Amino acid sequence: MPADVTLRHGVAYLQDIGKEQPKVLLFFNRTFIVFIVCFVMIQCRPVGQDRNTLMYLSRFGYLHPRLRATQGNVPEDVLKGAVSEFQQFAGINVTGVLDSETVHMMSLPRCGVRDTSKFDEGRKKRYVLEGSRFFVNTLSYRIFRYPRNMEHRVVQEQLARALRMWSDASNYTFIPKYTGKVHIGVRFERGSHDDSEPFDGPGGALAHAFFPKYEGDAHFDDEETWTFASKRGVNLFQVALHEFGHTLGLQHSNVKTAVMAPFYRGYDPDYKLDQDDIDGIRAIQSAPRLSDLKMSNKTSQKQR
Ligand code: ZN
Ligand code: CA
Repeated sequence: MPADVTLRHGVAYLQDIGKEQPKVLLFFNRTFIVFIVCFVMIQCRPVGQDRNTLMYLSRFGYLHPRLRATQGNVPEDVLKGAVSEFQQFAGINVTGVLDSETVHMMSLPRCGVRDTSKFDEGRKKRYVLEGSRFFVNTLSYRIFRYPRNMEHRVVQEQLARALRMWSDASNYTFIPKYTGKVHIGVRFERGSHDDSEPFDGPGGALAHAFFPKYEGDAHFDDEETWTFASKRGVNLFQVALHEFGHTLGLQHSNVKTAVMAPFYRGYDPDYKLDQDDIDGIRAIQSAPRLSDLKMSNKTSQKQR
């Protein structure tokens, strides 16, 4: 019988030949048992301790940063807990193991801001969990550095469109400025760019933004292919809408349909704020005043 028939008919063929060739059957049976054992071991593997998984979980706040370099030595229960927490946040089945759905979610382009900051103690905090907001309703913004692959006019339009959506849902008004100091600085940057979170080239982290306490700047990875009204590349309006949510004090949401969910799910011509986002911005704006925020001290020195 030809080899391809063997492959196609699998176990049934092995049983047939076994009647005439017991040694061959023994060999195939052993092989088959080894295969089954390996298959079961792979299926039961609690969590892969590969470097990329540890880096991802650590980077987005699910695993203590000191564990990211301890490949193979992270206690199973700690890792299982971190994966479960990520799965819960991402709204997928909570299995505690790196199943295909989890691997897929981790491969999606996303916002670079951490989903949780529980391990931030003792580190320089870039993002806060809560309690910061702008205490003026009219906020100025300025694009200090433009992307290389999009016309300035289009960038201005798409960012203004994103801010308009937030102003429609809140009491904030946004004013573009082209010189001088502003509340919100916008920059398209590559790799390291004067904060502690260098960009990572195409894919991965698309952008990140600072909460109001840290002046609300928004940074976009200039190695992404920024587009508008296209399935190609990464839609600037959609990512900007998300990042300006951080700028105004919103954290990541585990509501799948929310703009503040951290994952980029592709171009959506009807992309708009979810009720969860609207509830969030309204809760922030109606929060009691805790302290004054000073006008940020941004200069035009790095303008291209
Ligand atoms: Zn984000
Ligand atoms: Ca990137």
